[in-house]
Amino acid sequence: MSRPRRVTVLGATGSIGLSTLDVIARHPGRYEVFALTGFSRLTELEQLCLRHRPQFAVAGDVDQAKELSGRLTRAGLSISVLHGNAGLCTVSSHPGADVVMAAIVGAAGLEPTLAAVKAGKQVMLANKEALVMSGALFMQAVRDHGAQLLPIDSEHNAIFQCLPGTYGDGLGRCGVRRILLTASGGPFRDTPLDELHDVTPEQACAHPNWSMGRKISVDSASMMNKGLELIEACWLFDATPAQVEVLIHPQSVIHSLVDYVDGSVLAQLGNPDMRTPISHALAWPERIESGVAPLDLFSIARLDFQAPDLDRFPCLKLSMEAAATGRSAPAVLNAANEVAVAAFLDRRIRFTEIASIIADVLAALSIVEVDTLDAVLAVDTQARRAAESWLKRNGR
Ligand code: NAD
Ligand code: MG
Repeated sequence: MSRPRRVTVLGATGSIGLSTLDVIARHPGRYEVFALTGFSRLTELEQLCLRHRPQFAVAGDVDQAKELSGRLTRAGLSISVLHGNAGLCTVSSHPGADVVMAAIVGAAGLEPTLAAVKAGKQVMLANKEALVMSGALFMQAVRDHGAQLLPIDSEHNAIFQCLPGTYGDGLGRCGVRRILLTASGGPFRDTPLDELHDVTPEQACAHPNWSMGRKISVDSASMMNKGLELIEACWLFDATPAQVEVLIHPQSVIHSLVDYVDGSVLAQLGNPDMRTPISHALAWPERIESGVAPLDLFSIARLDFQAPDLDRFPCLKLSMEAAATGRSAPAVLNAANEVAVAAFLDRRIRFTEIASIIADVLAALSIVEVDTLDAVLAVDTQARRAAESWLKRNGR
């Protein structure tokens, strides 16, 4: 038998990171943890190091790294502890790692994920923001460096499973008519419109079907998550925005579908548990146990579908427009959204103001070509500044 595949888990202390480690721990001879990274939750990172014994750990800053290194040494472990963006890039591109799970949330994941791509790794992409910001550049790097990019987002993993292996030749050549991207509609799918401006971060984070980090939970409530996923799907599958249709499917059992010209529609179904797409990508093209319970269609009994209401979900509309505009528009959308969501979680703005900030920032900035990493990072910084100045102007 060949040696275990060594996995770097970026964002190990998060929801996706923990689910990844759960799957890895079910297959000890097959996978081994090479590196674990965390940002603010040092004790959680320490506990994961004690359990999974990686060669490297990466903490947020130098003080945290010193503290963690001391604790691990006292526990009798020799683990190299790095810190910051440089540390993240070191473990994601390290020759000792075979597979990189990109599960940092937001723009902070861009550089380490891109470093893994440029090192030709098997990259399991959960960090959709990285691809949304830098799509053209990112996909070019995948091609140039022979990286194996596997989608972790449940919808994109479902689409990947429903497409033929030759989809890289073009969707048209494979007879694909449309990609149908499903969305649960989040916790506010049926909330009266005039109550939306009073909803709290706790209500926004109480997703009906999925348990996730706070940022993506708010994105799901505003349907910005589906907007980011629409842009993500265009890059991953070389689709135009018009080829991707969003539909609300409240049960979150069908994770997405592919509609072919002969009238066939292929779907992937499963319980809403991220360990399914994680196991799929980890073992691809083989299949492994994930710990997810078998789907019980009798207890689900019915599957519903409806079109999204763009007045209720203006963030989805803004994303569709940014997808059609292209160039730097998705990076601006993403950065403004990150600032707005953080402000909402801090109770500085209302839920409905998330869309107002993004719309204002998109209108204020000129949209430019972004063909280098520096250009992407400059757009990201500029859009964050514009969103911060919205907050200041409005006394938040
Ligand atoms: P989370 O908030 O639970 O975890 C985020 C991780 O990123 C943590 O380990 C944190 O330490 C790390 N992190 C945060 N800021 C950082 C920074 N500045 N530098 C370095 N590390 C940092 O988030 P999550 O729900 O696990 O989501 C992670 C990514 O996966 C997101 O991009 C999200 O959109 C995507 N995703 C998540 C789910 C899900 O079910 N949770 C599903 C699909 C896609
Ligand atoms: Mg998703």
